[in-house]
Amino acid sequence: MLVIAETMQGKTTGPACELLGLARRLADQAGGTVAAALLGNGGGVVAEELIARGADRVYLAEHVLLGEYHADAWVPALAQICRQAACDAVLISHNAMGSDLAPRLAFRLGTAVATGCVEVALSAGRFVLTRPCYGGNAREIVSFKTAPAIATVRPGCYDVLAPDSGRSGSVMPVQPEIDATAIRTRIVERKRDAAEGVRLEDAKVIVAGGRGLNGANGFRVLEKLAHALGGAVGASRVPCDLGWCPRSWQIGLTGRTVTPDLYIAVGISGAGHHMAGCGNAKTIVAVNTDPEAAIFKDARYGVVGDYQRFIPAFISEVQKLRD
Ligand SMILES: Cc1cc2nc3c(=O)[nH]c(=O)nc-3n(C[C@H](O)[C@H](O)[C@H](O)COP(=O)(O)OP(=O)(O)OC[C@H]3O[C@@H](n4cnc5c(N)ncnc54)[C@H](O)[C@@H]3O)c2cc1C
Repeated sequence: MLVIAETMQGKTTGPACELLGLARRLADQAGGTVAAALLGNGGGVVAEELIARGADRVYLAEHVLLGEYHADAWVPALAQICRQAACDAVLISHNAMGSDLAPRLAFRLGTAVATGCVEVALSAGRFVLTRPCYGGNAREIVSFKTAPAIATVRPGCYDVLAPDSGRSGSVMPVQPEIDATAIRTRIVERKRDAAEGVRLEDAKVIVAGGRGLNGANGFRVLEKLAHALGGAVGASRVPCDLGWCPRSWQIGLTGRTVTPDLYIAVGISGAGHHMAGCGNAKTIVAVNTDPEAAIFKDARYGVVGDYQRFIPAFISEVQKLRD
């Protein structure tokens, strides 16, 4: 099994660690091995961390064009590693990069891809993957006729293995064959439209607002609650469309996929398109004036009422408990 090891600021990301744990368990079950592909422009120090977290071998490709994700450079380098590793499956985190990379890599290798999986299992020697479909209203189970099986896996679906510094493994340097003239785009500028804070994908607590907030000011109230709980703020699509909050806060089918321990949905009706992005949260709490709102079917706890009365009172209770 080959895991694409994503890094951020010189560290393996949480979702990449989850994939290593998943690959380790499956490989142990089938008597196989785990490899990790580490791409970058210097800084191969995390290779040891990948071994401690379950990899038997780390394929290290370093190149000036691999410093940050760029499909035209990463796809040929990864295709090369996949062939070298002769892997049966490739696991990639389901995020913006993974969603872009996985189908391109599958096409390059002449195989198939299953994106947005919540479960990866082995049955009679075949990979069997489960993923939500129809806007999160159903689940489909797929297996592959081609190899390697390529899957993007949603963050938060698997536990991270505790690092074991006693594990041994090897680091295999790869000379990536990248044609610089094949790079068709370049990053000109980066803009952040969200206030810096906890990343939605990493947040253990998310307070999300919908049309029921009735304006941008509602998000200031949610920010206070998120701050009191040490969490992040998200949104349904409507407030993003209306410009009440940054687009990057959108959670759902066409937004981000999140898996926090606690998801507080405020003034959100619970449409399938929204729940596709947050339905795997461990605990959902809904605050809504409409007792018939669909969100109450997914919520473990529900508050029927006006958020403007409930949330400020809730914040002061949280602060009292914290004090
Ligand atoms: C192809 C496609 C993709 C989509 N992708 C996404 C996506 O990624 N993410 C997403 O979220 N949506 C997405 N949508 C839109 C989705 O279908 C819904 O329209 C949207 O999620 C509804 O947002 P909402 O719950 O905020 O608004 P509404 O459905 O209007 O719900 C507002 C809720 O607020 C409650 N409310 C009103 N006042 C208060 C108050 N004072 N206090 C408490 N509660 C109150 C109401 O009772 C109501 O339940 C997509 C749609 C399509 C067609």
